[in-house]
Amino acid sequence: MSGKQKNSGRPTAWRLFVNNRLALSGLVILSVIILLALLAPILPLASPDETAPAQRLIRPLGDGYLLGSDHLGRDLLSRLLWGTQVSIAVGLSATIVAAFFGSLIGLVAGYAGGKVDNSLMRGIDMVMAFPYILLALAIVAALGPGLMNALYAIAVVNIPFFARNIRGVTLGLARREFVDAARLSGKGHIRILLTEILPNVLPTIVITMSTTVGWMILETAGLSFLGLGAQPPQADLGSMLGEGRKLLFTAPHVSIIPGLMIFLLVMSINLMGDGIRDVLDPRLKSGALSRPMAKTEDARNITPGNRDQKTGTAMEVMNLRTEFQVGQEIYKAVGGVSFDLRPGECLGLVGESGSGKSVTAMSLLGLVPTPPGRIAGGEVRYEGEDLLGASLSRLQSLRGGKIAYVFQDPLSTLHPLFTVGDQICEAIRAHQPLGRAEAWKRAVELLNKVRIPNAERRAHDYPHQMSGGMRQRVGIAMALANDAEILVADEPTTALDVTVQAQVLKLLKELQRESDAALLFITHDFGVVSEICDRVAVMYAGRIVEVGSTDQILTRPAHPYTRKLIDCVPVMGRREKRLEAIAGLPPVVNRLPAGCAFADRCEAADDDCRKGELLLEEMSDRHAVRCRKAKEAA
Ligand code: ADP
Ligand code: MG
Repeated sequence: MSGKQKNSGRPTAWRLFVNNRLALSGLVILSVIILLALLAPILPLASPDETAPAQRLIRPLGDGYLLGSDHLGRDLLSRLLWGTQVSIAVGLSATIVAAFFGSLIGLVAGYAGGKVDNSLMRGIDMVMAFPYILLALAIVAALGPGLMNALYAIAVVNIPFFARNIRGVTLGLARREFVDAARLSGKGHIRILLTEILPNVLPTIVITMSTTVGWMILETAGLSFLGLGAQPPQADLGSMLGEGRKLLFTAPHVSIIPGLMIFLLVMSINLMGDGIRDVLDPRLKSGALSRPMAKTEDARNITPGNRDQKTGTAMEVMNLRTEFQVGQEIYKAVGGVSFDLRPGECLGLVGESGSGKSVTAMSLLGLVPTPPGRIAGGEVRYEGEDLLGASLSRLQSLRGGKIAYVFQDPLSTLHPLFTVGDQICEAIRAHQPLGRAEAWKRAVELLNKVRIPNAERRAHDYPHQMSGGMRQRVGIAMALANDAEILVADEPTTALDVTVQAQVLKLLKELQRESDAALLFITHDFGVVSEICDRVAVMYAGRIVEVGSTDQILTRPAHPYTRKLIDCVPVMGRREKRLEAIAGLPPVVNRLPAGCAFADRCEAADDDCRKGELLLEEMSDRHAVRCRKAKEAA
């Protein structure tokens, strides 16, 4: 196990595999069989082909024959082990041959597309048009009986499975952005296939191999059973079964023993193959076949009583803690966040990427996916009610209703197949008992309100027909559709260019003033904060490190982190102002240091900063900071 895997806390592929009891027992049985087969040359066994007419058809455990003897007096144990060796070798070789050629065809067809794809796939279709064991028989009949020919036949009839599977996966990958990027970087087709596509296709190839090798061993045995594979006196499992068939009633052990071995072999391989598939298939990976629940799990061990909400607040958040469990590791994405949101005010939540802003916002209405997320503690109060413990139906009636979200990228939140008018209608009708015509009228009004020109006509547009700024206006219109009291805007302008960003900000501010809604505005950009926010809370590593009015924060930032964030904002006309990136990286939230989480990046930090628990302490009127040095200086 590499150190990297250890750190990520994700269960390794091997751990996942071992946790699967069936797959593990398959592996154990298969290992024993393979070991015995490999040891055949050094075990004290009689030669598998040595006949002893006097010792015919001895029962198992009789007369020095552990598994008895066959109709020519040959030792069955010896033949079984040698035969198993042959069967596995042939089945495995056939799988490798089929996987190689099938994958090659699939990769080329999927990557090249067009005519190449068409002709290759029609060829594959032709092979698939024949019942496949019949085709194998025809091939062996044409080539003549023999183990090698059986191997070729089995390989050929299995090529289509690989070709089709791999083509499908390649087709999807070949049109992905990272392949375009590789092409733009000047890589040739062969290198793209080998370095970009093949590594992504490899799990599918391995899965297909592990799930077909059992069948191929069975098919080899089938051909040998019919006398087309291994030729006497050579033993393989199929030919042994075939020879024993005539003696089924007089000496059943001669056929039962190889039959049992075929059963064990194919069973164990298939069980193992399923296990490998479960581990490698990205859709089944991370052990979760489950979809996230519709509401974040509430894992708080206290049930907060019906406490009154602070007067004059639209929402009160107290000591909110949200964690993600990934494997054994717990990521404390939000580690005790408290803030009030007053009606009509705009509170900015600012911090670097990964500081927990989005998770905070999503936690308010149980929108954090479970698994892996869960609420570990705290309270969120709205109209006196504890939202973290609210029922799903209650949350659903609030989502998009009294509490609405505007997300960063409207292209991914708007449905590509419905017109924007339809989508706004849907948002309205989810919360208001309006007919379609009325809802449509209201949708057009909303589009007008967010200043979309020609709203009547644009309502019939699909999201892709609009520019980024327009789409974000639609996103805002949807959030306003049901007269929200609280708006949560998560980086609503980050995906837009600067001029459009300014327009959208202005619009958002005006609409918020008009409706007197509270706005929780999330951004990483202090430049935006000064434009729109009344108060600001600065987040670092899942906690608020400073909170105060925009004026206080911008003119008298107390926390070193806040100061550095403000220094990151370019100022027009002040060319001498150097833009500084904050050195170092934020701590990973599964291993937070003691004391101040920012200490490692802070020039003023000393040893005392790395001890104990730091509190968010008020310095002056409603200006609080989580920093020892700032507190001392004040
Ligand atoms: P931002 O401040 O940029 O919005 P987020 O709130 O999205 O940051 O993320 C905060 C932390 O939570 C990050 O460290 C991130 O890795 C972690 N996180 C977010 N979503 C998940 C998830 N679904 N599974 C695991 N970790 C997550
Ligand atoms: Mg975010």
